[in-house]
Amino acid sequence: MEYPKEVRTYCPFCKKYTVHKVKIATRGSRDRTLAKGNRKHERKLKGYGGKRRGKKTPRKQAKPQKVILICSNCKKKHEKIVGSRTKKKIELVAKS
Ligand SMILES: [Zn+2]
Repeated sequence: MEYPKEVRTYCPFCKKYTVHKVKIATRGSRDRTLAKGNRKHERKLKGYGGKRRGKKTPRKQAKPQKVILICSNCKKKHEKIVGSRTKKKIELVAKS
């Protein structure tokens, strides 16, 4: 998926259309596997037979791709979702 490096779009802070720089949003913090709650949960799953609660449910594979838009006027950031669920990563392309 290609996306231009600069877009002219609405800025909710300036309340008008301005030129925005585009950055790719990185994923937020991952789950800490060594956190106390997670270790406890794993221990619970380990035991013999019986009812094991909270088995992991299959997750959806693809997530909506996000970009961060930085307004050139007020330098504030806001996010935008590009397309819907897809595995394709966003590439920034200079505007042709
Ligand atoms: Zn702005």
